[in-house]
Amino acid sequence: MEKYDIIIAGAGASGVFMSYEMTKIKNNAKILMIDKGAGIEKRVCPIKLGSTTNCIKCSPCHIMNGYGGAGTLSDGKYNITNQFGGDLHKYVGKEEALELMEYVDEVLCSMGGADAKLYSTANSQLKTTALRNNLHLLDAKVRHLGTDRNVKIIERIFEYTKKRIETQFYTQIIDVDKLDDGRFCVTTDKGNKYECNDLVLATGRSGSKWISTICDKMNIELKKNRVDIGVRVELPGEIFKHITDEVYESKIVYKTDKYNDMVRTFCMNPYGEVVAENTNGIVTVNGHSYADPSLRTENTNFALLVSNTFTEPFKNSNEYGESIAKLSNMLGGGVLLQRFGDLVKGRRSSARRMEKCFTRPTLKATPGDLSLVIPKRQLDNIIEMIYALDKIAPGTANEDTLLYGVEVKFYNSKVQVDNNLETKVKGLYALGDGSGVTHSLSQASASGVHVGRILAEKYAI
Ligand SMILES: Cc1cc2nc3c(=O)[nH]c(=O)nc-3n(C[C@H](O)[C@H](O)[C@H](O)COP(=O)(O)OP(=O)(O)OC[C@H]3O[C@@H](n4cnc5c(N)ncnc54)[C@H](O)[C@@H]3O)c2cc1C
Repeated sequence: MEKYDIIIAGAGASGVFMSYEMTKIKNNAKILMIDKGAGIEKRVCPIKLGSTTNCIKCSPCHIMNGYGGAGTLSDGKYNITNQFGGDLHKYVGKEEALELMEYVDEVLCSMGGADAKLYSTANSQLKTTALRNNLHLLDAKVRHLGTDRNVKIIERIFEYTKKRIETQFYTQIIDVDKLDDGRFCVTTDKGNKYECNDLVLATGRSGSKWISTICDKMNIELKKNRVDIGVRVELPGEIFKHITDEVYESKIVYKTDKYNDMVRTFCMNPYGEVVAENTNGIVTVNGHSYADPSLRTENTNFALLVSNTFTEPFKNSNEYGESIAKLSNMLGGGVLLQRFGDLVKGRRSSARRMEKCFTRPTLKATPGDLSLVIPKRQLDNIIEMIYALDKIAPGTANEDTLLYGVEVKFYNSKVQVDNNLETKVKGLYALGDGSGVTHSLSQASASGVHVGRILAEKYAI
């Protein structure tokens, strides 16, 4: 059985930034990184290739898996903030968390991201306008790399680390055993076994169920109770131009009158595209945009999400979200699309009605009726939020505003870890989105830097 000092399970944002730090800081650890997805050059979604228009459920999905993880083909928006995107600050402290995110930004800039503008909500007039309309703009700095630039940066990080970090692609870790001498034995789907002193679980959202099984096996406590459900809104870029030009991505929170529920905007993509996303066979919707102006569309898209936190006896919030996504997959064969006007009039959008729609959809989705899929409470909340946004961005509540469903934001169960992101099992670390500590690129990457620094010191020369 081959022996390593450290095995990193997952080559997503957190694993990649950990490997960057372990390459940069001198140490003598022998390191193996394993990912179930492809190397970066092989990561192409068949929809992008044009060989299909609908998600054909590749296994593993190239959007979610492979070098750089779910971040590689994403929009590459790195938000530097403790206000959303995870709870890293609760583990490492507020200042340290921001310092780690700023450091990630410096690395991205040094690898080719410096030309991308850094937007900030500080001193923004939008905050006041939003407040006057009972909407709350969260504070953040955001660097938008764009999918094209983001891929190039991740490629450069791979080039920087590849001599130092051994990497295996298309290899899934299926089991982990704790050996009598305190080391770990990792078993892959290829039947190989590897031993290591320190095992870093960085398997992201796509590995969340797998992390749960490992934690159950090792008696590590997991907490789960939240899932966010909503739609992706697409409208002409002009409607949000005054906002996206100033702050690029605005995280706006609204408390609905009817239910007192929180609804928020999420993942805003000026002049971007709506995309389908396949997580373990369930197709949901997402969005991204390119830095290259020639690849821009005329539309802006963003998610509207309603947070659902469950109390006893229900424990499996992700299954609740999956069931709603499955309903839309059942009715639409994938993503459902409805005009806002049709939704409020209580009728489905049909191919005929879509032909008359001024806003052209950027994702080929099935026209249908979201009210048959999304529960009344969440749908009422979304409609109320659209009318609220219409006050600061008139035109949001137009009848041709497009709603794609469903967008589900799954939250991984929170793995119990200490300030070093180490579990109670010595040498077993959990970081990034798979740990439930983070749910964004900046914070996942920052968590990788944090553990990279800790382990580089442990194996210092
Ligand atoms: C379409 C899309 C757009 C997004 N856009 C943004 C954005 O603009 N800004 C932002 O902040 N966030 C965005 N996100 C979220 C962001 O990508 C994640 O927060 C981030 O990638 C989390 O990093 P991670 O390392 O924790 O996990 P991931 O990036 O998910 O990486 C986990 C890796 O582990 C591998 N893996 C899983 N299980 C196993 C196993 N058993 N064995 C081996 N390997 C395994 C997977 O193949 C994957 O490569 C987006 C997500 C998607 C899907």
